[in-house]
Amino acid sequence: MRHLITTKDFHKNEIIELFKEAKEFLDEKPRDFLKEKSITTIFFENSTRTHSSFETAAKRLGAKVLRLDVSKSSSSKGETLYDTAANLDAMSPNAIIIRHANSGVPQILASRMHCPVVNGGDGKHSHPTQALLDLFTIYEHFQGNTEGKKILIVGDIKNSRVASSNIELLSQFGLDITLVAPPHFMPNSSLRKSYHLNKELIENTDIIMSLRTQVERHEKMIYASLKDYANDFCINSKLIQDKKLILLHPGPVNRNIDISDEVMKDQRALILKQVKNGVAIRMAVLKKLILEN
Ligand code: ASP
Repeated sequence: MRHLITTKDFHKNEIIELFKEAKEFLDEKPRDFLKEKSITTIFFENSTRTHSSFETAAKRLGAKVLRLDVSKSSSSKGETLYDTAANLDAMSPNAIIIRHANSGVPQILASRMHCPVVNGGDGKHSHPTQALLDLFTIYEHFQGNTEGKKILIVGDIKNSRVASSNIELLSQFGLDITLVAPPHFMPNSSLRKSYHLNKELIENTDIIMSLRTQVERHEKMIYASLKDYANDFCINSKLIQDKKLILLHPGPVNRNIDISDEVMKDQRALILKQVKNGVAIRMAVLKKLILEN
């Protein structure tokens, strides 16, 4: 049984095939590839985009979706995660999409399920479909020529599952990554690092990926204030001026901390395109995992 827990679960050529298929799905027309199939979503952590994106993707492929409302499920009555999962599995869904605040939960559950498990984000660990849609957005923008393109990943990299999945994936496609963060948000990594976001970095980059400060994952307050952070790392027009580049953010954006209001409206900010691309990518992922398993 194949699952999608980290981006390493797909080979590079499979990802290129997914991108071809996702490109077709950008027409947003309904398909019936997953007619008669049912998909369960179970999100133990808040989500706006990922949850609705998976649901839209599943429905656009003709599948039925069972959205388990965790606040009303038996988890709040003391049922273990394993038992909740075993019960869901006993209803024979064709795929389960799970998000959890603890790293490793999707991996553990996958070993007990009889259907593909898709990781919708686990703790600080991994968010594979976000990285796939980010790469797809870059791939589309540069018409497949990702080799040697320079990207700055800016923000709370240490606590971001989006960053770790992107770091894993982007280098496979030849992107040249620089991590930009204050020391308390910088992970241990052999990649190029900068503790300042300066004009010189901007001059030399093709892509900026801005990330939200993961306040919910900080055990203690490790920085002075988000305002201080914003003074040094917010992507604003003074910083990027008219440099030819694209700007990505997985959302939710903390306006004027991660990205200024003005830049949010800029043509170079592809944030809503990422959302649109996300549905197409998740359609391709669900179709592959369910029909090829
Ligand atoms: N939505 C992304 C995630 O679930 C990014 C974020 O929350 O900052 O990881």
